[in-house]
Amino acid sequence: MLKQVDYLIIGQGLAGSLLAWELIQRNYKVHIIDQQQENASQVAAGLINPVTGMRLVKNENIETLLPCAKQQYQALSHFFKNSFYQEKTLLRIVRNDKELKKYQQRLQEPSYLDFLNTELQTPSPELIAPLGLIQQKQTGTLDTVPLLNQLKDFFQKKQCYQATTFDYQDLSLENDLSWQGIHAKKIIFCEGYQAINNPWFQYLPFQLAKGEILSFRSDIPIIPQMLNYGRWFIPSPNQQFRIGATFENNVIDTLPTEKAKNDLIATLHKIYPSIKSAQLTNHQANIRPTTLDKAPFIGQHPKHKNLYIFNGFGSKGSLKIPFYSQHFIDYLADNTPLDKRVDINRVI
Ligand SMILES: Cc1cc2nc3c(=O)[nH]c(=O)nc-3n(C[C@H](O)[C@H](O)[C@H](O)COP(=O)(O)OP(=O)(O)OC[C@H]3O[C@@H](n4cnc5c(N)ncnc54)[C@H](O)[C@@H]3O)c2cc1C
Repeated sequence: MLKQVDYLIIGQGLAGSLLAWELIQRNYKVHIIDQQQENASQVAAGLINPVTGMRLVKNENIETLLPCAKQQYQALSHFFKNSFYQEKTLLRIVRNDKELKKYQQRLQEPSYLDFLNTELQTPSPELIAPLGLIQQKQTGTLDTVPLLNQLKDFFQKKQCYQATTFDYQDLSLENDLSWQGIHAKKIIFCEGYQAINNPWFQYLPFQLAKGEILSFRSDIPIIPQMLNYGRWFIPSPNQQFRIGATFENNVIDTLPTEKAKNDLIATLHKIYPSIKSAQLTNHQANIRPTTLDKAPFIGQHPKHKNLYIFNGFGSKGSLKIPFYSQHFIDYLADNTPLDKRVDINRVI
């Protein structure tokens, strides 16, 4: 194959896909390479939840990230005639008095009122939640598998997708970039956790985190809202639901384990005992591309100026990737400065 492109993109997870999509919208020529193994984006629940953690902290920059994500998913839904992002209510089970107090404090901060309902909810009879439920607002899920499949089809029809492993040794950095007959002005690596094998970017301080997730089908009706009880419960049509996810720092295998399965099931049964008869239909594991300072890794290699990385979206890819793909392309195309919090130049 002999081909000349503006951007060669390595990886067709959510990061590589949305970046390639946006570049094509702006009339750049791209070529995407993916080794077609189940990736973090396909395993992910796609949950978008603006307020997280024991201290109920609003995601930094949420006022920019969330509208951009919604707008991007809506545009993709419109283009592919398929609805990828579903707004769903999230009920957070109050676990202790400290959490209740924190919630009451947050209600005094006007910027939280867009994301937290001011009234505590009473649990339905199925749920064990003696301290009540906090109703979170502007929460939802991205259906990553159909979205990535449709984008892959789209790239294939444009003949800019290649299912193969990018072997780093085959890249020639002399004069212009070329890899197996493809000449590119720039390469953007979007390899998720496998960036740790990349000879040019493996110096970046990733702090990868394995996660496991279970899927079920129930014979009896299930509650329609998402739940957060330290873990999360996400209902989907036909009495199906997913629960997850475990979080293990620095474990980098993708093997499902009995321990994670038992932990996830036991925690669910404590707050939702009547769901015990549901049948397990899938158990998946993958690795989140998390970073030491929790911010993405975006930017140009310090020495090889035509090599770039777009990675490190941790456990919040669905929320962050739409905004940062546009921000990154503005930088690549128009030299708009990169946000210093995400620029890999922050790492010495
Ligand atoms: C269990 C679990 C639950 C999660 N839940 C959520 C959630 O609810 N909400 C949320 O927003 N995020 C969630 N995440 C995180 C989310 O998955 C990531 O933020 C996001 O998907 C990362 O996308 P990515 O494209 O960077 O990486 P990936 O999706 O891993 O994609 C990287 C791609 O690069 C390819 N690749 C790598 N090296 C090569 C090579 N040498 N040659 C060819 N191809 C290569 C891989 O095959 C892969 O297809 C979860 C993650 C896990 C593991």
